[in-house]
Amino acid sequence: MSIQSRNPATGEVLETFSALSDHAIEDKIARAAEGAEALRLLPVKDRARLLEKLAGLLEEGCEDLATIATMEMGKTLAAAKAEVKKCAWVCRYYAEHGPEFLRDDPVQIDEGSAYVAHLPLGPILAVMPWNFPYWQVFRFAAPALVAGNPGLLKHASNVPQCALAIEDLIRTAGFPKGSFQTLLIGSDKVEKVLRDKRVRGATLTGSGPAGSAVAALAGEEIKPSLLELGGSDAFIVMPSADLDAAAQAAVTGRTQNNGQSCIAAKRFIIHTEVYDGFRDKFAERLKSLKIGDPMAEDTDIGPLVSADARDDILEQVKQSIDAGAKLSFGAEKVEVDGFPNGAWFSPGMMEDIPENAPAYRDEIFAPVALMFRVPNLDEAIELANNSDFGLGSAIFTKEKSEVTHAVRRLEAGATAVNRIVASDPRLPFGGVKTSGYGRELAKDGMMALVNKKTVTIS
Ligand code: NDP
Repeated sequence: MSIQSRNPATGEVLETFSALSDHAIEDKIARAAEGAEALRLLPVKDRARLLEKLAGLLEEGCEDLATIATMEMGKTLAAAKAEVKKCAWVCRYYAEHGPEFLRDDPVQIDEGSAYVAHLPLGPILAVMPWNFPYWQVFRFAAPALVAGNPGLLKHASNVPQCALAIEDLIRTAGFPKGSFQTLLIGSDKVEKVLRDKRVRGATLTGSGPAGSAVAALAGEEIKPSLLELGGSDAFIVMPSADLDAAAQAAVTGRTQNNGQSCIAAKRFIIHTEVYDGFRDKFAERLKSLKIGDPMAEDTDIGPLVSADARDDILEQVKQSIDAGAKLSFGAEKVEVDGFPNGAWFSPGMMEDIPENAPAYRDEIFAPVALMFRVPNLDEAIELANNSDFGLGSAIFTKEKSEVTHAVRRLEAGATAVNRIVASDPRLPFGGVKTSGYGRELAKDGMMALVNKKTVTIS
């Protein structure tokens, strides 16, 4: 089997890699087990120091790293640079706070003394997606390395160069051998790795089916797992909202990363009093976005990740129209001058979406705004919750009571008020329902990866 790097703007194959043999996988797992020992013996403050160095390497290499991501998966160069800088931020965050999160916690008991120690678990398998090819990995790797857990990265098959660049950065930062390795393997080899006794847990960011497959294996092997899966986030707009600000946020929320973000605003649930006004402002802005070469500075939206992915989206749109939804504009294959083989797709909007349409119930991983009209907040929340997903949610309103009501009732791992959902190293991140379980980032993200050992002393 081969793993291929293909530029979605040109269709050109950039590089082809052979997948690792079983023998090579075995070698890497053995090295990860040695790495676990070496990391365990390294004082936490030294692990944190190496992470600080890693942050510096990310900043120094930002331009080159960003170019690799743009070439492999089509995000704009500006977005790729912002992503690399965010990775440096998460490294600095855990370099600074990791040692304090990992400190022993004393607990008062009746006789003698007690404390909780935070010890490494061992090698963790990280199965990651292509859409934020650096960020998804670093938000796992930064806390894992300070906690003393080696990483074994099975990255998405279309971003092997990003995956190798990450391994190289972590090695160059000076982490002990085996601390972090990229496994160039297809998803068919995930089972072999996860069933290995030396691998102590798994984290997966990706789609529901992938998450469910990995979680089932982890369950059978009685290993901890963490799942960050898809979402179809609701974006509620109430009459008191600043409509211009909401429309601008909606554009960013729906089109960031060329519309391929798990926490993108996907379902726009708008109070009927402001529906037309909001829709017009939102539509006007969406139509004005420039689609084109992701390397160019003035491009707003690059290609989708592949022509196959675009075909899947076109099929979801077609099926939704067949079910009775109205396509207001866009959401179609378009041409870009000079790039005849790019996976170009125009931002679009759908309205009057019936419950049986894919656009109502499935995640649309492309810049298509799904519009819903509601008469009041209760119906907005009911509609928002009428989804298998529960990742993020947003509400735009100036009414405090509406905020309180929405925060309590929206079934999601996050609610953003008068802003879009975004991840931040300082805040826990994760979903409920089929959007996954467990939390990454902040202290929670680090605690998910440790053995909280109870120590009692007489
Ligand atoms: P996939 O689930 O297809 O792939 C994610 C990773 O899982 C890849 O490394 C893939 O490998 C691997 N994989 C796929 N199937 C299996 C399997 N049966 N067993 C083991 N591993 C498997 O997702 P995409 O890459 O297409 O990413 C898009 C999805 O990820 C969207 O649903 C999106 O919402 C979600 N996502 C969630 C985020 C969150 O934080 N909650 C953040 C970003 C994305 P291979 O490439 O070799 O198939």
